[in-house]
Amino acid sequence: MAQHDPSGLVARLAAQRAAYSQERWPTLAVRRDRLKRLRALTREHGTAIAASIDADFGGRSAHETRLAELFLVAAAISHAESHLRRWTRPRRVATAARFWPARNRLLPQPLGVVGIVAPWNYPFQLSIGPAVAAIAAGNRVMLKPSELTPHFSELLARLVAGLFDPDELHVVTGGVEVGRAFVALPFDHLFFTGSTAVGRQVAMAAAANLTPVTLELGGKSPAILDPSADMTQAARRIAFGKLLNAGQTCIAPDYLMVPRGSTAKMSSDLGDAIRSLYPTISDNPDYSAIISDGHRDRLAALVQDACDKGAAVVEPVRVDLATNARKMAPTLLLGVNASMRVMQEEIFGPILPIIEYDGLDEAIAHVTAGERPLALYWFGTDARSRERVLRETHAGGVTVNDCLWHLAQEDQPFGGIGASGTGSYHGEWGFRTFSHFKPILHQPAVAGTRFFQPPYGKTFDAM
Ligand code: NAD
Repeated sequence: MAQHDPSGLVARLAAQRAAYSQERWPTLAVRRDRLKRLRALTREHGTAIAASIDADFGGRSAHETRLAELFLVAAAISHAESHLRRWTRPRRVATAARFWPARNRLLPQPLGVVGIVAPWNYPFQLSIGPAVAAIAAGNRVMLKPSELTPHFSELLARLVAGLFDPDELHVVTGGVEVGRAFVALPFDHLFFTGSTAVGRQVAMAAAANLTPVTLELGGKSPAILDPSADMTQAARRIAFGKLLNAGQTCIAPDYLMVPRGSTAKMSSDLGDAIRSLYPTISDNPDYSAIISDGHRDRLAALVQDACDKGAAVVEPVRVDLATNARKMAPTLLLGVNASMRVMQEEIFGPILPIIEYDGLDEAIAHVTAGERPLALYWFGTDARSRERVLRETHAGGVTVNDCLWHLAQEDQPFGGIGASGTGSYHGEWGFRTFSHFKPILHQPAVAGTRFFQPPYGKTFDAM
């Protein structure tokens, strides 16, 4: 009986699978050629891609698109190209002496057809970045970007269709219904980037097919200011990390913890830093807008809720909503507490609550009491405090004395832990995610294991 397949997803998966079975071990040349086409996509269409994202955001800094999307993806492609030969090579591993002269090795094998689901906040980086890893590992890829970036998604679908056979890489557009149907497909691996709530649903859909998942989710990433920190320097780096993409960054510092009594100095330093990074907001091409009216309203409601419950609001730079109603002022919230929504939900906007702590034990207890965050930032020079925080808290990744930059390290895995995600990618870690490292034992003509066969006699008596 024909399967109900209104979006053609089942048929596309079947076609990709058939193509994969014709070429189960793409050569280095084939993989390099596909990466080259991804490079062409990034290099030759960067301006159009930036314009499409700008249209979706109603104002997305072209510099931010170049820095945080095109540049990062180009770096990932170069890294994959220069390491591909080593990554794809079978790896010798040790063999226990009792099995000699047998030899062990690991063969990295493509998984087959993989699905990638991307969010709206960095639509190019978070769709093509994982695709680089999946393609380097020799897979066929189906990719679904977010319905909240329709200009970008349509452009990507068109550009990819011009550069790739749909059985190599195919972009699926559509809303949440298409997303649901997409994650219910029996892929050989599903790579999802998005919210923790949707990630839970995706994990359940994948479980029905026993499809392995990588979940790149969100959460409340703390920044901790140690008493030993250079406050002025920390303020500038925290302001940058918070306000890139107007705070719509999965690893943005969600809230800031400062030693008791230092809120006034820190909020003043943050104010100076914000004014120097963004002297104006509404007309500033370096400062991005909020993705939709609904998202802006949610952020405004978070601030209102905090005010209603006694928080103080500091806006270091005024906004003129008549110029662009979706540009939200950088906002510091002082005097917040756990009853406020802003301390319960992932903020995902240019709002930075500041809370005070008494001693390192309290700071660590605060972090460990919540869900495990995607990122953690620690500022200071006291190595003992730093090592305590690093060892006694969990987070997907950490930057010490700065924000965000651990994400840009191709030689480090990037991913969450607990509610902020499972699995990782970037560089070789992405290649591993999209490969099966098949353990193989090569048994020679004369095998030591003949001693483990019956008749057993006294073979195992000494064990
Ligand atoms: P989202 O979870 O709403 O959507 C992500 C993707 O899932 C979109 O393509 C959407 O169409 C699709 N989707 C929505 N509902 C679905 C369903 N029921 N079944 C299948 N697919 C569905 O997330 P978002 O609002 O686009 O992105 C913001 C979130 O993503 C934040 O929580 C942020 O922290 C997180 N994020 C994480 C990372 C990371 O690397 N860990 C990166 C960026 C964003």
